[in-house]
Amino acid sequence: MEVKTSLLDNMIGVGDMVLLEPLNEDSFIENLRKRFDHNEIYTYIGSVVISMNPYRSLPIFTPEKVEEYRNRNFYELSPHIYALADEAYRSLRDQDKDQCILITGESGAGKTEASKLVMSYVAAVCGKGQEVNKVKEQLLQSNPVLEAFGNAKTVRNDNSSRFGKYMDIEFDFKGDPLGGVISNYLLEKSRVCKQPRGERNFHIFYQLLSGASGDTLSKLYTQLVVTLHLTPVLITPAVSLYVLSQNAMQIVGFMEDEVQLVLELVAAVLKLGNIEFKPESRVNGFDESRVKDKNGETIAYYARDALAKNLYSRLFSWLVTRINESIKAKTRHKVMGVLDIYGFEIFEDNSFEQFIINYCNEKLQQIFIELTLREEQEEYVREGIEWTNIEYFNNAVICDLIENNQNGILAMLDEECLRPGTVTDDTFLDKLNTICAEHQHFESRLSKNSKFLTDHSLPHSCFRIQHYAGKVLYRVEGFVDKNNDLLYRDLSQAMYKATHSLMRQLFPEGNPAKVNLKRPPTAGFQFKASVGGLMKNLQTKNPNYIRCIKPNDKKAAHIFTDSLVCHQVRYLGLMENVRVRRAGYAFRQPYEPCLERYKMLCKQTWPHWRGPARDGVEVLLTDCSVPAEEFAYGRSKIFIRNPRTLFTLEERRRAC
Ligand code: ADP
Ligand code: MG
Repeated sequence: MEVKTSLLDNMIGVGDMVLLEPLNEDSFIENLRKRFDHNEIYTYIGSVVISMNPYRSLPIFTPEKVEEYRNRNFYELSPHIYALADEAYRSLRDQDKDQCILITGESGAGKTEASKLVMSYVAAVCGKGQEVNKVKEQLLQSNPVLEAFGNAKTVRNDNSSRFGKYMDIEFDFKGDPLGGVISNYLLEKSRVCKQPRGERNFHIFYQLLSGASGDTLSKLYTQLVVTLHLTPVLITPAVSLYVLSQNAMQIVGFMEDEVQLVLELVAAVLKLGNIEFKPESRVNGFDESRVKDKNGETIAYYARDALAKNLYSRLFSWLVTRINESIKAKTRHKVMGVLDIYGFEIFEDNSFEQFIINYCNEKLQQIFIELTLREEQEEYVREGIEWTNIEYFNNAVICDLIENNQNGILAMLDEECLRPGTVTDDTFLDKLNTICAEHQHFESRLSKNSKFLTDHSLPHSCFRIQHYAGKVLYRVEGFVDKNNDLLYRDLSQAMYKATHSLMRQLFPEGNPAKVNLKRPPTAGFQFKASVGGLMKNLQTKNPNYIRCIKPNDKKAAHIFTDSLVCHQVRYLGLMENVRVRRAGYAFRQPYEPCLERYKMLCKQTWPHWRGPARDGVEVLLTDCSVPAEEFAYGRSKIFIRNPRTLFTLEERRRAC
């Protein structure tokens, strides 16, 4: 672990924030900016990689770069996502440790690109051979398939993933890939029916309409009159992307007739968008749902949209399951998980979706704290160094406020949704206010509910939570509905009656022989369960972190907006991260490279030290009259408390 001058070069900023002096928010951001201006988009916080989105292609992802980073130690070269990927892969292969790569950041920050860079790096350095190459190709091609169905153009990102994704890449004992398993989280299905201004529906709709041949389209009975808020214009990239995703489906292992079934359902969703309900008029075979009055009309549209959303999201989940059938390994020895999931969201208008997403981020933050501290602690124990307690903000209280089984917000929402009588968003809010305020009164010592903020400035129909990343105001409108996520039983029964085999498969609860009077679990309940499963899974693995930052909100190269970056640095908890990392010993290095680097500073160690490297380092440091409390001697490494000490040594070295 040699400290390359690149980590300390002041011209391009320091490569590791742990070495930043003085450390404060301003200097932190200034350092990122300096590096960004010099095309250095990666910066470390210890072993965490901060990644700035360059919004243009940089020549740093070439096969030559892969070779450069291959089998090198983490701190040897300038910071790069390849260094992290290499470290994770080698630790998996050589030390037999399961890994996970946790990628977070806001929309457009570069998470999905980062996950693809990690995957392609691993694919490039792991085993070769016909079988292995086929597996690699299938794993990599699962991306375009899921992107076609799960990504959309948004204000923030032209290729925004509208779902969370976790993928386990499975390896054999030699470190060759065998297969993979994908889990998906919370597809933003509302997009099927309604997109915010300036945004679009899922890519596949455009790809199908502009890329598929007239023959295919007429087979799908789709007249190109599309009112599902889709603009039926020919979009050239969509044409070639259609071909791309069709190819990808084939490589991943979809049969031709399966692809056809899938496209038919996509067309069915489109056609649902065409259905209009007019009093007294018959509509394309949907005469049963003809409605008579204004009131009924609203319900019919509501049901139509619910069906479209449900159909699409079930189709998406089916695709994931189907891909897994294809790529899942029969046996596996070790896994590397890659998590690409939406970051913390604070919008002007925050609804149920933001609440759920932010809950997930609280859980990830918790696991981050837990695992980082655990790792630190374990290293100290390994090295025989006394553990000093690190003060940090533990966000467990916020998680508890949301997920506690008795009086957590999700539990209260469920309780309200299942209660007989008139249930509205406002009755839910009343309950929340009563119970949380009560607790605030009785349990103020526990300070748990001080995270549930009540004050007189609160707008109507809102509640506010103090998340670790900041205060967020949630509007309760739609909470009950979205949590209920109900589809009229008639509709699932109608879908089950369809002659379309895939459609039937997607609505098993429509089977009259299997009428289940128990209501399906709520959306909140399901999400909580899947996040719980994810956390359990991550906890068993060695974590590697990539924190993505968006430099501007224009999707433009070369622009670095301080305020925007500052906001992200705060809610990614990066300052906290550096603090934890520096709280004990900021820097550590094995004795041999340390002696090698600084031996010129001392007569007794220059040019050769005869004896154990540890003793050499001790002689050296004593001779340099560095205060003893600045160091701790571990079994294999020297631990340095203050980064400034390292700078002093570096300066002296340069002066030699
Ligand atoms: P996220 O998944 O965080 O929402 P993406 O990974 O989709 O963001 O990135 C958004 C866009 O930013 C990409 O489509 C691409 O244009 C650009 N981008 C992201 N990372 C890089 C990179 N390493 N190099 C060049 N462009 C990038
Ligand atoms: Mg993405």
